[in-house]
Amino acid sequence: MIKNNTVVGISYTLKNSDGEELDSAGAGDPLQYLHGVGQIVPGLEKALEGLLIGSTKDVVVPPAEGYGEHVPQLKIKTEMSMFPKDVEVKIGMEFTADLGDGKHQNFKVEKIEGNEVFIDGNHPLAGETLHFAIEVLSIREATEEELQHGHAHGPGGHHH
Ligand code: ZN
Repeated sequence: MIKNNTVVGISYTLKNSDGEELDSAGAGDPLQYLHGVGQIVPGLEKALEGLLIGSTKDVVVPPAEGYGEHVPQLKIKTEMSMFPKDVEVKIGMEFTADLGDGKHQNFKVEKIEGNEVFIDGNHPLAGETLHFAIEVLSIREATEEELQHGHAHGPGGHHH
């Protein structure tokens, strides 16, 4: 049964509300994650709790329990001079900015117009209702090392 500190293997397809497929993992290449530590979005993790090997489930995850609401204030126009001189600013570049208070926010460069750089701190799936169809393929106890690292190791998991 899926509970905290188990490593779970699932296959899934993820679609948005328009039925477009956003992501998937097949039975031959399942996602492996450590349950209970927030390695996957909260709404999905909650829905998987207590399932058994072989369970299938359709899970609808609202933005607040997925990748967050879309926050217009995180779309920011900044200037080339705000970046360190040795950084070549390119579209698609990702970076982390210190917002003060010890808070960090990931941003992506969306557009460059002359000296103006448009950045977006929203996750690409922010604001999306996520429609998962999942099947539980494996469940095992996590190793000490996995618990210390806070993620699953091995095929489909984290590689060092
Ligand atoms: Zn690790």
